[in-house]
Amino acid sequence: MAVRIIEKKIEDILSMMRNPAQVRNAGTLAHVDHGKTTTTDSLLMGAGLLSPKVAGKALAMDYVEIEQLRQMTVKSANISLYFEYEGKPYIINFVDTPGHVDFTGHVTRSLRVMDGALVVVDAVEGVMTQTETVVRQAMEEMVRPVLFINKIDRLIKELRLNPNEIQERIIEIVKDFNNLIDMYADPNFKDKWKVDPSKGQVALGSALNKWGVTIPQAAKAGLKFSNIVDAYEKNYVDELAQEFPLYRAILNMIVEHVPPPNVAQRYRIPKIWRGDINSPLGKALLEADPDGPTVIAVSKMNKDPHAGLIATGRVFSGTIREGDEVYLINAKTSKRVLQTYLYMGPNRIVIPEVPAGNIVALLGVDDARAGETIVASSIKDVAAPFERMKYISEPVVTVA
Ligand code: GDP
Repeated sequence: MAVRIIEKKIEDILSMMRNPAQVRNAGTLAHVDHGKTTTTDSLLMGAGLLSPKVAGKALAMDYVEIEQLRQMTVKSANISLYFEYEGKPYIINFVDTPGHVDFTGHVTRSLRVMDGALVVVDAVEGVMTQTETVVRQAMEEMVRPVLFINKIDRLIKELRLNPNEIQERIIEIVKDFNNLIDMYADPNFKDKWKVDPSKGQVALGSALNKWGVTIPQAAKAGLKFSNIVDAYEKNYVDELAQEFPLYRAILNMIVEHVPPPNVAQRYRIPKIWRGDINSPLGKALLEADPDGPTVIAVSKMNKDPHAGLIATGRVFSGTIREGDEVYLINAKTSKRVLQTYLYMGPNRIVIPEVPAGNIVALLGVDDARAGETIVASSIKDVAAPFERMKYISEPVVTVA
């Protein structure tokens, strides 16, 4: 399986990155085996992988194999997809989240750089313990969820449900999911963040068969549950996937319902940052101001065999550039940024600067660890770090 690479000039990528309305930072969360990997592959194959065009150089390849890409995301913690929605281009930064809930907080670290989470739920199994754990973690980090009810094919082929029963099953899963939001969301967001299928905040489909729809999409096209059952019974699932590709349902949902970074930071910063939000720095963070002082939250450190240690993180304020003098708050040390990169396409590509609201890879900040806060040296005496991330683990024994 291969993923298309979409080349764009660096200036065009930078101009998109400077316009938060065209940027989304999201990732996928799921209970084990509910289909996170299959769903992500489907998104990668459907959308293009954005890659900067280096002037005068022909790209070595037009496609990258899924396997190669998986290896790459393990290294990079992030890839960027290019997606056009209603005629407008978007950069969708897809943050890699670990495939299992662990005790070391990797999921939480990924959540810090995301504003939205695609939660995948198996239609037969429904909401499970790890669904609850990941939703709770997302709520702690003020990451807005959207829901993908996967494996609808199993309701038809294994459980032999009729169209009405399928609809009832979906309603039941949505209800269980919204109960989690009710339990764990910030009181101000409980109602706003509950997912409403009629508003396109829930997709249903089969990642295995690569089809998916939201209710508004189905209504617009006149698609009914009986048509979906028919597609399986009369063997035209491929046509269903052609007409209703999963990636389109999910990426539409992300563009529409995951807030752009500047909007998300207004409510996320008061919860995840320890400083005074009324200070000039606080205001720059709330607005994701690209002209404010530089503040970066590091989500992952990787060792590159050639370059050395690479930090991946989100720029919450300011614009980071090669040569910038920065201060690592936790490590209490000053460093100079040697290079700024984007993880796009199969390579890490040097980019002159990365503005607030985007994800960057940095060379030169060797003492940083996941969870580090990197700030411009000029504000090192006034800057506050991000909150420590809370590691929520699953209960060992569940008492009913
Ligand atoms: P993850 O653990 O959440 O990453 O789940 P995977 O994507 O690896 O999927 C787990 C298993 O479910 C694999 O055997 C997939 O082939 C299967 N699977 C994924 N999506 C679907 C689907 O839509 N329908 C069915 N029947 N199986 C699926």
